[in-house]
Amino acid sequence: MTLIVTAVELDARRAVARAELAPLVEGLRRELTPLLESPPEVPREKALLSRTGGRCTIDGALLHFDPYDPRHICPACGREYAGELHDRFRLYWYQMWLAERVLHAALLGVLTDDEPCRLSAATLLDRYADQYLRYPNADNVLGPSRPFFSTYLESIWLLQLTIALDILETGAPSRELTSLGARVRDRLIAPSVSLIASYDEGMSNRQVWNNAALMAASRLLDDRVLFDRALNGPSGLHAHLGNALLSDGSWYEGENYHLFAHRGLWYGERIANAAGHSLPASLDDRYHDGFAAPFRTILPDLTYPSRRDSQYAVSVRQPRFAESCELGLAHHNDQRLTSMLARLYDPTIPRGDTGRAASSADVERNLPAMGLSRADLSWRTLLCALPTLPPLVAQPLRSDLLPAQGLGVLRRDEGAVYVSLDYGHSGGGHGHPDRLNLTLVDGARRWFDDPGTGSYVDPTLHWYRSTLAHNAPLVDGHSQHRVHGALLAFADDDRYGWISAQAELAPGLIVRRSVVVLEDYLIDEIHWEGAEAHEIALPMHGVDVAGEHAKIPSPIAGGTEAEDGFAFLADTARVHLPIAGRATLLGTTSDGAQLNGWTFASDDASVWFATAPAPPGREGRMPLVLLRHRATAGGFQSVWSWNDSVIAVEREGDTLVVMRRDGSRHRHPRSPIGWTVDMSGDRVVVLSPSLRSRAGCAKDLLFSDTLRTERAAAVPEDMPPSVLYPLPTTVEMGEPHYRQSEFTWQGAGAPRATVTVTRPTRGTVLVEVEVPASQRLFVPLTTENQLDNEPASINGDSVQLYAIAGARSAGLLLVPDTNSVSVRPVDGWTNDLSVDACWRPTSSGYRLEATLHIGGGAPEFSLDVIVNEVVSGRARRRGQLVLSGAAGEFIYLRGDRNDPSRLLRFSLANV
Ligand SMILES: [Zn+2]
Ligand SMILES: [Zn+2]
Repeated sequence: MTLIVTAVELDARRAVARAELAPLVEGLRRELTPLLESPPEVPREKALLSRTGGRCTIDGALLHFDPYDPRHICPACGREYAGELHDRFRLYWYQMWLAERVLHAALLGVLTDDEPCRLSAATLLDRYADQYLRYPNADNVLGPSRPFFSTYLESIWLLQLTIALDILETGAPSRELTSLGARVRDRLIAPSVSLIASYDEGMSNRQVWNNAALMAASRLLDDRVLFDRALNGPSGLHAHLGNALLSDGSWYEGENYHLFAHRGLWYGERIANAAGHSLPASLDDRYHDGFAAPFRTILPDLTYPSRRDSQYAVSVRQPRFAESCELGLAHHNDQRLTSMLARLYDPTIPRGDTGRAASSADVERNLPAMGLSRADLSWRTLLCALPTLPPLVAQPLRSDLLPAQGLGVLRRDEGAVYVSLDYGHSGGGHGHPDRLNLTLVDGARRWFDDPGTGSYVDPTLHWYRSTLAHNAPLVDGHSQHRVHGALLAFADDDRYGWISAQAELAPGLIVRRSVVVLEDYLIDEIHWEGAEAHEIALPMHGVDVAGEHAKIPSPIAGGTEAEDGFAFLADTARVHLPIAGRATLLGTTSDGAQLNGWTFASDDASVWFATAPAPPGREGRMPLVLLRHRATAGGFQSVWSWNDSVIAVEREGDTLVVMRRDGSRHRHPRSPIGWTVDMSGDRVVVLSPSLRSRAGCAKDLLFSDTLRTERAAAVPEDMPPSVLYPLPTTVEMGEPHYRQSEFTWQGAGAPRATVTVTRPTRGTVLVEVEVPASQRLFVPLTTENQLDNEPASINGDSVQLYAIAGARSAGLLLVPDTNSVSVRPVDGWTNDLSVDACWRPTSSGYRLEATLHIGGGAPEFSLDVIVNEVVSGRARRRGQLVLSGAAGEFIYLRGDRNDPSRLLRFSLANV
């Protein structure tokens, strides 16, 4: 039995470990020494996720993790924290760390015949076999788990231990090991994998890890049905490779999930391959493109464009990126990967601390950029990388189009200059309202930048999530609504190129942006056309208005929602220009570099100045210029020169004329079929509207929205319930109404409740909720929830009531109190429907009554009732009974929310 490589390959790695990869072996062995001297006991407690555990309350930084030092110290401010919540969160890192060390010990033990290593791996596996079933499968946040609080974390952890056992059994079989293997299968692998199999996360990146664990475990248990499900099932490896990995090789959730998801796919591909199921050719190609995908949109300084909720300026000069290149090269030779490795292994880049001694398996933490070598990588390289790499030569980064993400990149000056238009998919829950966002970077100078997202707990989160914080157009003073843009043209020959795209930014309003990039300047044109007049505003960050003008301090009117961003502006002023609609603009950097801009708008457009927050983690404020123009149809044109090659720009009718320092003139007449550049010396370049790129593929332009659903719900949430219930109605809630956590309805002791809906008077509806068996564990509404941001009362016995009658509605959390019922409005619901509630204990449970004052006239009303259900000894609720039905659903992350379209309809006629 072998999981990742064959027995023959494992044997052959002994020679590689002694020769080519000896420095990697030495480093891993050195880091393992303290553990070999005295193998630690495995933790007895389950890890706990809470609001405060593991984070600095001052700056939000994750507290430092050192496996040999249990103190909780903030790496940012040095404060030390103590307490159970921190201790229990640290177990999350510790369990991952320890499982990965078991794997290191097993692999080193086998490859280098290191008896102390083999012995400690076996000892720790034995202790885990004893402990695993003692961890309670309760109080989880995202799916069932014993040692952790989310299923996918248990999957990552189980994967390490399973591979470790397999390596020991394959590489150093013995009689003792046979009996240990049986115990580990029986007491750890089998119960853990059955728990993982019970929670399917569909197309989520987390399910990639669940699949990898299912495949590894089912191989060791010889469970072919489970293996086939993880490989070929609706959310199995092939489905992920074919649908969640897009045809350009990028994971659909974007850069910040790509590497994590793709490494999970690596486990899946390896395990399938070793089991004799190599991938079909088309999936294998796409899987391989996934190794190169992270580098296609990389900025010149080798950091990610901080799109969406990404952290700001994360560098690929980190071990896990180098390792991904190594694993990709072991799969197929690829110049894109050797070229990137040449940069990552550049010996002139200063080295740093990779933190590998404290690494927590596949749960990654970002590191500062540093120089790397093969000796910095992990056990995956030791087991699977090529013994000797092909020659590493850095090739210039090239222009590229990722049609499935909807991002076009035009590069100039051997890759030092980067221009991109981010037009495509809105990005789902972590997306930003920044369609048609323009980025311009010259080496280390970020002229037009995407700031990503800072801390989730800081108010600037709203700024970074506004359209105004981007170089993207906004309509009528509000952030864009969620919309996908479409590509119109992409063409580039490394000297002349353009990208054009459009998005419907308001109903009936099409906004088109075209960016033409020449060798040393670019033209940016925005055009809109709508059924009615709209105000289009274009923010340009990091620049100020140059030349003669009057700046009159004045507030800038805009949307008032926090995520419209206007509240974050300061130093606001209206700019009065010598020639209306024409501005010259100037950006400068601390090193004295300049960005020169010329902007043309209609005479009645207005120009504004303000300052705004700098990118996350950067001090001070940044200038910005805002163009605004209200019209049914209109446009803005700008020319930007980043190396002083343009001295002036004029507009003659629709034609832009660019005068260059070398005396030449470029004319840009608008052309109905594309873009024409007429250069002095009778050279004319016509940029065609046809799509042309190395990766271009028309079917990528169609986004599959079904794929974005985090988890397929058992009940289609947008389908209105069609049944109209008469009054009075009584519903006995039981198994079909149960929304479970770790336990099924049967496993939870078959909880029930009865809901009776009557209409005692013409203007009122009475909802009676009878909970026959309850420990009456009511949690007062004033209780602080230490676990997360939900009301603490949902984790006690309580009732959630949602009603809509005509134009009025109510969404309420009802909690029985000493002699009354406390009421808390549910976020997102308008509460203008008056509700009175009372309750009383019964012999074995409680009964709650709510009177809804619906008034007269409406022919029907809608209602949902949810009963939270808990037993003593739990920190979180066990489950819910849901009037509108919940078969197959899980309670994780639901809080007190409920979708209005789920409510059941009741007839008020004929009463
Ligand atoms: Zn701190
Ligand atoms: Zn953004």
